[in-house]
Formats: sequence, C-alpha cells, structure tokens
Amino acid sequence: MLGALVAALLAPAAAAPTLPSPAAVPAQARSIPGYYRLLLGQFEVTALSDGTVTLPVDKLLTHTSPAELAPVMQRAGIDPAKAEISINAFLIHTGSRLVLVDAGPGAVFPHAGKLVASLHAAGYHPQDITDVVITHIHGDHSAGLTIQGKAAFPRATVHVQKTDADFWLDPANAARHPRHAHAFAQARLDLAPYLASGRLRRLAGAAEIVPGIRALPTPGHTPGHAFYEVESEGQKLVLWRDLIHGKDAQFHAPGIAIGFDVDEGAAISQRKAAMADTASKGYLVGAGHISFPGIGRVAARGVSYDWLPVNYSEQALRRAGGKR
Ligand SMILES: [Zn+2]
Repeated sequence: MLGALVAALLAPAAAAPTLPSPAAVPAQARSIPGYYRLLLGQFEVTALSDGTVTLPVDKLLTHTSPAELAPVMQRAGIDPAKAEISINAFLIHTGSRLVLVDAGPGAVFPHAGKLVASLHAAGYHPQDITDVVITHIHGDHSAGLTIQGKAAFPRATVHVQKTDADFWLDPANAARHPRHAHAFAQARLDLAPYLASGRLRRLAGAAEIVPGIRALPTPGHTPGHAFYEVESEGQKLVLWRDLIHGKDAQFHAPGIAIGFDVDEGAAISQRKAAMADTASKGYLVGAGHISFPGIGRVAARGVSYDWLPVNYSEQALRRAGGKR
C-alpha cells in the first residue's frame, strides 16, 4: 500500500496542466468587511470594522517630542507621518436588545464607512438595531448615524451624554472653540433626524442604557465623552472609545495626548486612571481606534503599559453544553 504510494510519487510526472497567467487574474486590492465575535456571559459581542483612517500622528500627538516618538513608532513598524488607524464599532446582543456602540464616520472618511457592510456580514441589518449609543459626538463616531439626511438606523433610539449633546449643539460653544468648528457643524447634521423624531435620549452621567450596559462618564476628549461598561454573569468589557488614538505612543506614555482632545489635561488624567484600573483588574477592553477588532487586556510594565490583543478564537463562541 505504502510502497504503491511512494512509487506513484516517484513516477515521472505527467505533463503539467497549463496554468492561467496571473496577469489574466486581476489582484483584488481590498479586504472584506470585518467582524469579530465573542461571548461575554449571556451577551454576544461583535466588533464591527468600519475601515481605517490614515493620520499624521507625529503632528497630532501632543505632550511628546519627535525624539520620544520616533523609536517607539519604529519598534512598532509604523510610520508616524502616515499611521493607519482602525475605526471599530461594537454590537451587543443582550438577548432582548441589539445595541450598537458608535455609528462610525459614514461617508466622511475615504477608506471607512464600511460599518453597514460589516453589520450585514455579521448577520444583522440596520433596522434590527434597537439602540445606538454614541460615546461622544465626533464625526468618526456619529456621522454614520445619518445617511443623506435620513436616519441610518430607522428604529433605534440614540443615547448620548447630555453634556456632549448640549455642548456640540450649542452655537455659542462653536464660536468659543474655533479649532473644532468642523466638529460642531458635523454634530448638527449627524443628530438632526433623531432630534426631529424625538429619538435622541440625553443621558445624565452614569446612566443604564439597557440592563447590563451602563455609561461611565470620562470627560476630557469631549465634555461628555463616556466609556460604556458591558457586564453579564460577572464578565466585564469596558468600551474605552477615544482614550487611545496612537496605540504604541500612548501605551508607552499615557501622558501623550492628541490635538482632537477638547481638554487635553482631563483626557490625560482619564487615560492614566483607566490604564491603571484595567491593568489591576484584568477585565476586557474594547477600543475604537486600536487595530481591529480592538479588543484586549492591558498589562502594566513599569510606567508604561502593554496592550494584549485577544487571541483569535472560534471555540470561545461555543456556550457550555456545545449549543450555539
Ligand atoms: Zn474617534
């Protein structure tokens, strides 16, 4: 038996079939819309890729210097003049509600706007979403709420911190913060259909969105920026959102901020506190701008921190008893 197999392997090869020329098969220069799913107690959590944005983080990061930044970025293999940064949203199926955390940038960025395609790929549709939580009103998190003036999530209630809605919707603030003029204009467009239909819920601080999901206000990046804590059967995931924009630089030195912060000092304090808390307690974190799926844990390393991305797992989707 084995002898016959070896003989067959050693026999002179038949004439090889003619292969098509690779030139006749165009290279497909794109990735498929992405999702990554895990179970958190009784909740199903799906990270949804909205694409990426390329940013000159060497010009945008503050409270640092080229001498500090260059070796850190070099070690990570990333050019700080054109760092490609993920835009991630998160979908939580609680059993009775389907909650989307952040709506992505819609058509605002050229290599993004893939959220709806990723949602379809993950088996859901915009009309299935019962609640959209906006962690803060910045175009890359809220512009995808509205497509050509219409609500992209036609049945959903939109939840946002009252502090953030009041700040971004007040024209007097726009005049006071000319550096963020574009963000004020975008905010009004993003929220318009939900305001008109009475489906914008302004949250007061640490409010519960639905059982198992609650806000943790973390003002700094914007006045109403909030984390969202997701907890089921004692398992916890904290959606950090815009605590991190330059992963390698800001885990190396949490005191490094970014020019998008409305209050850089407060944003730095939030980052230092969040990293220390996460590293000491070991819960999962979901981040808006860490390489997709942006889910992992944090470990302390002296005055710096390490990001420990989740290990890719399909087994983790099987509930005890194998039913899934
Ligand atoms: Zn952002």
